[in-house]
Amino acid sequence: MHDAVIIGGGPGGLAVSRALSVRGVDHVVLERGDRPGHSWANVYDSLHLHTGKHLSALPGRPLPRSAPLFVPAPGFLAYLRAYATDFGLPVRLRCEATRAVRDGDRWIVESTTKTAEARALVIATGIMSSPAVPEIGGREAFRGTVIHSVEYRRPGRFAWRRVLVVGAGNSAGEIAPELADAGASVTVSIRSGANVVPRTVLGVPIQYVAWAALKLPGPVRAPVVAAFARIIRSIRGAPPFPRARGPLLGQVPMIGYKLVDAIRAGRVQLRGGLDRFTPTGARFQGGLEEEFDDVILATGFRAALGPVEGLVTRDERGFACRRARVVSTEQPDLYFVGHHYDSAGGLHNISRDAPAVARLIAAKRA
Ligand SMILES: Cc1cc2nc3c(=O)[nH]c(=O)nc-3n(C[C@H](O)[C@H](O)[C@H](O)COP(=O)(O)OP(=O)(O)OC[C@H]3O[C@@H](n4cnc5c(N)ncnc54)[C@H](O)[C@@H]3O)c2cc1C
Repeated sequence: MHDAVIIGGGPGGLAVSRALSVRGVDHVVLERGDRPGHSWANVYDSLHLHTGKHLSALPGRPLPRSAPLFVPAPGFLAYLRAYATDFGLPVRLRCEATRAVRDGDRWIVESTTKTAEARALVIATGIMSSPAVPEIGGREAFRGTVIHSVEYRRPGRFAWRRVLVVGAGNSAGEIAPELADAGASVTVSIRSGANVVPRTVLGVPIQYVAWAALKLPGPVRAPVVAAFARIIRSIRGAPPFPRARGPLLGQVPMIGYKLVDAIRAGRVQLRGGLDRFTPTGARFQGGLEEEFDDVILATGFRAALGPVEGLVTRDERGFACRRARVVSTEQPDLYFVGHHYDSAGGLHNISRDAPAVARLIAAKRA
């Protein structure tokens, strides 16, 4: 039996694994893919980190000095592989955890290879393996193609076609303008709205600004952030769609003005929420109908809780219910990493949470 089993060999799982290794805690990482960082081997070609390299690194290893400020996905994947190899992390590849059960004071984790047992269990399964696909009426009758943005790789096959991109997150913000540049006729459907921020301010990644703002005392933070947002709006103008509801720093904004600029230039058409599919396209709220050949659902992701689904409940944002950021409120010796998404960046939150999980597991072992 191990002291800990970590499910997921992405940034979250690798960071916990390294922190446990540093503390001499015996553990194993189960990764369903054929390499560490599997999710980052399965993203669209043009994807770059939208967070700066100084606040996207995992504990114990900065991103290379030679790397650009915004690291392209293949570079980040190479970094994750080097992280696992150089720290000698015990990653069991092509091993999908299927179910975890609590048996007395231990966790039994069943998988597609062999069962693992441990006192503590860490869920680091991320979100990319759990795309959020909303129920939209009329889909069966739609004669075109429908994919989720997680399946999108490059614009080639969409050139000269009529493409509808549904959503207002970073994927929609990058994929829609890219398709337009490749000659597709692109429409984006935005239902509730989005906060748009520039990628950099005076050359500094906006994430660093958010990180600093999150350090401000509460009473000062909100007015400072609001003032900053007003300055951005006075410089870049108000985006042609509503702002997202909720606190600016508490969610991941659309980083960069590619989509806003494409809409303003008429290269991408903007529509409201999607009401339903029609056999030849879509009907939007308000009744407007248009024809499309392809629909890309850039509708986000949910926390992948597969092995512990049913043992835990989800909070209002779809992540497992936790206390102290990482500890399950429902099961003993169960921890979650990669469940914090705000403007400081998922990776930066992982670099903060992973050592905390290792500390808690090591303390219980003593
Ligand atoms: C398109 C996209 C871009 C993003 N860009 C950024 C960014 O620029 N900056 C930033 O800070 N954050 C970004 N994020 C958010 C987040 O930081 C990343 O998703 C990051 O990869 C999270 O790391 P993770 O380890 O939690 O999840 P993942 O990287 O998804 O890793 C989870 C791992 O678990 C494995 N796994 C899942 N289920 C099982 C199972 N049952 N058994 C075994 N293995 C399993 C998967 O194969 C995967 O390798 C982005 C997210 C997305 C979707």
